[in-house]
Amino acid sequence: MRLVILGASGAGKGTQAQALAKHFGMKHISTGDILREEVKKDSAICRAVKRLMDRGDLVPDELMLSILEGILVEEDNFILDGYPRTFSQALALNAICDRLGTPIDVAVSIEVPDDEVIQRITGRTVCSKCATMFHTIFLPPKVHGICDVCGATLTQRPDDTMDTVKHRLKLFHALTEPIIDFYRRQGILISRNGVGDAEEIAADLIKTLEEKS
Ligand SMILES: [Zn+2]
Repeated sequence: MRLVILGASGAGKGTQAQALAKHFGMKHISTGDILREEVKKDSAICRAVKRLMDRGDLVPDELMLSILEGILVEEDNFILDGYPRTFSQALALNAICDRLGTPIDVAVSIEVPDDEVIQRITGRTVCSKCATMFHTIFLPPKVHGICDVCGATLTQRPDDTMDTVKHRLKLFHALTEPIIDFYRRQGILISRNGVGDAEEIAADLIKTLEEKS
């Protein structure tokens, strides 16, 4: 099965991707991990990627696509997580899959209302010393603002502030809705509410996918 998974940061997409990959024996292709792997290799592409990542720049579409194509040539049973993020990336992915004769079978969209995403992300705190993660509502430390593990102060990551999260969500909706539409028109979209128990959501998705195949 060739599957892409879509969802906002904070929607629980990575967790669902892992559960599906484990159940169906699919390779979990996370584009974030791919880039981190790629920079460990010694190739022309890796050196280019490393230079960009070191500068904090985004990796351009063409570079990401050539890395992705190298993986998809060898992999026919996968779940793609973190790609496509834009409509043009979705078209480019389709072109690769067409060329390889291996179309995407299913696109899963994990949908969580903005308010819930905001609550999940802005509540996150991390220990400044041992990096243990907490959440003011879902996983509170025993003492407010103090790490249970080592006693150091908990801080919020700059990426997790209200303004940043709202901005990311706005971008996400603008960029991702056309992709969701694109897969819906192909009749391969499965959208699921991502609010609730992660294991139950995964079990439901697995059931749907098993019925489909
Ligand atoms: Zn700590």
